[in-house]
Amino acid sequence: MYHRLNLLSGWTISRALTLSFVVGFPLVLSGCPRNETPSPRVSMSNSRGTNSPPPIPVGFNGERAMDHVRKQIEIGPHPPDTAELARTRAYIINELKSYGLLVHTDDFTATTPQGEKKMANIIAEVPGESKDVIVVASHYDTKYFKDMRFVGANDPASSVATLLEIGRVLGSAREKPKVTYKLVFFDGEEAFCENWDDCGSEGAPDNTYGSRRYVAQLKAKNEGNSTRALILLDMMGYTNLELGRDTMSTRWLQDIIWQTGRDLGYSEIFTDRPEGVGGDDHEPFLRAGIDSVDLIQLNGYPYWHKANDTVDKISPQSMRIVGETVLASLPKIAERVAK
Ligand SMILES: [Zn+2]
Repeated sequence: MYHRLNLLSGWTISRALTLSFVVGFPLVLSGCPRNETPSPRVSMSNSRGTNSPPPIPVGFNGERAMDHVRKQIEIGPHPPDTAELARTRAYIINELKSYGLLVHTDDFTATTPQGEKKMANIIAEVPGESKDVIVVASHYDTKYFKDMRFVGANDPASSVATLLEIGRVLGSAREKPKVTYKLVFFDGEEAFCENWDDCGSEGAPDNTYGSRRYVAQLKAKNEGNSTRALILLDMMGYTNLELGRDTMSTRWLQDIIWQTGRDLGYSEIFTDRPEGVGGDDHEPFLRAGIDSVDLIQLNGYPYWHKANDTVDKISPQSMRIVGETVLASLPKIAERVAK
């Protein structure tokens, strides 16, 4: 109950804030009805009695995701251990809490080529019937560039935005999912040096600081066995979205997502072109024996790590396609991994 009450009050406040921002009228908190176009594909089931209020279907809203992208860009470049990343983190946490999710951070210090850096992973939880966990993740730091103002509209703002919207939909579900979902926002995915292999050494790579920390903590807390799958989102917003198959990813997991995307009508997005991605946040999970898939558009995105990775490259539609596909895939993955 706490879960749902919290969600409703959080929704009312955040929606009123959004409305007052967009329309420009003063903030008035009211119980106005939900004014959204529900997605028929991921709407929640109707199992209420006749005396209950009608069900409120919540679907992935691409425009809300666009707002999250703009907000991150407004904050400015946010590499690890900066005031801007702290602001980004506060924004993400605030949003997740407003969806009724349980949120905490894991603060740690990483040794980097630029010295000791304070970092924090953000973890939001949707408790399920079983303790088996499916992690859906994105990094939220932008890459540090000495001489370039890099805002990272696609990398990582669009995947953060997509993950936030996924969180809002999961937080609104009336029934407990079969397994527990964790939405994780990794700090320190990007290398401090220009290229990710410039400064790394064996056993101490210069990237994936947050995901390596997360997996180390799983091992330290003996939770490695209950974490059954990782779905990693990275650069989900390009107007010309097209996803190849990352060759490192776990095939059965990738197959479920690809087939689900095609069943939803997105065959042109989920292609069989091989996508080679080394050094992303799924690597530490794979090394720990956790089945993982990376959804990434790297080779087909010409603005990657460029100053013009800007909001005009991002489309609400692209984030919605990924969001709907992941949301529709989760119960199928849960079915497969639940003990
Ligand atoms: Zn990047």
